[in-house]
Amino acid sequence: MIGIIPLSLMASGQTEPQQTTQGQTKESQATTPAKETKMRPAQEQSMKAIRVHKFGGPEVLRLEEVPTPQPGPGQVLVRMHAVGVNPVETYIRAGTYAYKPTLPYTPGNDGAGVVEQVGTDVNEFKPGDRVYTARSVSGTYAEFALCTTEQVHPLPANISFAQGAAIGTPYATAYRGLFQRGDAKPGETVLVHGASGGVGTAAVQLARARGLRVFGTAGSDEGRKLAREQGAHEVFDHRAPDHFEQIMKATGGRGVDVIVEMLANVNLGRDLTILAKRGRVVIIGSRGRVEIDPRDAMQRDADVRGMAIPNTPPADWASIHAALDVGLENGTLHPVVGKEFPLAEAAQAHRAVMEPGAFGKIVLRTEADK
Ligand code: NAP
Repeated sequence: MIGIIPLSLMASGQTEPQQTTQGQTKESQATTPAKETKMRPAQEQSMKAIRVHKFGGPEVLRLEEVPTPQPGPGQVLVRMHAVGVNPVETYIRAGTYAYKPTLPYTPGNDGAGVVEQVGTDVNEFKPGDRVYTARSVSGTYAEFALCTTEQVHPLPANISFAQGAAIGTPYATAYRGLFQRGDAKPGETVLVHGASGGVGTAAVQLARARGLRVFGTAGSDEGRKLAREQGAHEVFDHRAPDHFEQIMKATGGRGVDVIVEMLANVNLGRDLTILAKRGRVVIIGSRGRVEIDPRDAMQRDADVRGMAIPNTPPADWASIHAALDVGLENGTLHPVVGKEFPLAEAAQAHRAVMEPGAFGKIVLRTEADK
């Protein structure tokens, strides 16, 4: 078996670089079935995959020929068309993350493609099914990814493969942050602090669909425009020193009920000053330490709640995907892909995901999607 990255190794909001993207969402595959041209059958023993042989900078991501994994009982083999790039994969690659996978390994949990083969006892999926992955046994930065049936979800025809690659980690994180950790309820006000990236755009869509009043922030004009287009009622510039005052003013002085926070080491102290009574801050991302005044929490009966998606219990995980799958199907959720790279350019994608100026999701494309 090649590199294994169990879910328990994914992001927990440690050192968090920023992501940048711009460019066009490629929607053309939305209803396109798997193409047969140029594809090598999976039974052909080898495939291209990104491999990491030593921890380090983006340059350690190498495209190699490796054995194609074969599905065992309860497993499916997915021919990847598009692969989602998450910030946590850069921390793991750098070797600075709490978990270090055994070298060499293939990165990645998120992606979308077509079921190629299924294990003997698999009834839920069949070859030819369009799917997205949320976790993987063998790593998704590859032409084929081995997954358990629980790690694979149907990809509706209205969602392109590139969009499918933007679902797994970002949407699950946004859903859990808002509703399972943040207890966000219809009618409440939520601040998506960092609304321009993968998790933030998902959070805006989910919160708006649930009937919340949604505030979003971004560091660029494009990011703020994007957040507004995804459903934010009001947008703010998180680089503006007075944006906390602006947000407080927008609530009429009452404060926000829930904050989903992408950069807690910068914002947590001041987040506590703009919470309403019994408000909640959910820490999704953080890059380091921060000083807070506990009295700000005391005065509001406020909660600071951390979350790491690998901690999600199986029942909550099932709820998340039940909700996401219906939202994708009925068009409520529409993942935003801002920038695409060929699989071979995974290193450039890792550089891009570290830059400011986020615009939705960064995705890798494989030969299958050409
Ligand atoms: P991303 O696509 O790179 O987006 C990063 C977001 O952070 C952008 O919206 C960016 O806005 C924003 N940001 C930058 N400076 C900010 C500031 N001062 N205040 C508020 N927001 C700021 O990353 P992502 O995939 O959405 O993930 C977001 C963070 O959550 C990452 O750090 C990631 O590691 C973490 N995460 C944690 C979990 C978990 O389980 N806890 C799961 C997934 C992700 P601009 O670029 O417009 O400035």
